[in-house]
Amino acid sequence: MTEALLITPTELRQWHYCPRVVFFERCTPVRRRETILMMHGREKHQTELVKERRRTLSRYDLAEGERRYDVRLTNSALGLNGELDLLIVNGQEAYPVEFKHTHRSPDPGHKLQLCAYALLVEAELGLTCPYGYWHSSRTRQTHTVPIDTRLRRRTLQAIAEVRAFIELERCPPPTSKTVKCLECELRNFCGDTL
Ligand code: SF4
Repeated sequence: MTEALLITPTELRQWHYCPRVVFFERCTPVRRRETILMMHGREKHQTELVKERRRTLSRYDLAEGERRYDVRLTNSALGLNGELDLLIVNGQEAYPVEFKHTHRSPDPGHKLQLCAYALLVEAELGLTCPYGYWHSSRTRQTHTVPIDTRLRRRTLQAIAEVRAFIELERCPPPTSKTVKCLECELRNFCGDTL
């Protein structure tokens, strides 16, 4: 598989939000401007990673584990590449960790993203990921996300769907939740939504 067709876990999350966000980024010269909200979220994310290095593993309910930061992985059989902020390794098991600056609980897009990292870890490092962690730096809550059969299947389907419209350069349908379009920076390029 060519590098251009590899999908990132982040793109799977964006695809769940609206497939066209990924289409514009991959198949057109149109780029989203970074909003103040996005910039704020990115800065909080970096701060959280710095703080993480000083913490114990208690929030993960793990007695021990080795933290690995900025783990870059590529697997062409899966059609995925990406860089994981944090991976906790304990023996033959590993747990990908995602940080988000939000009041919400992880949505299906966040779970796809986490599962994609887990698939990469299993394929490339030969470890098993029974679950991952998703931490909100706003609520200070850490959610355990099981990497179960259903989520794995949905993630593989999502990878195939994203790859298909990139390969064919075919614009996917807009999100069915048009409320998202009201605040979307790409609204001017989506003439058929509102
Ligand atoms: S305007 Fe709506 S359909 Fe278009 S990219 Fe934004 S969210 Fe998706």
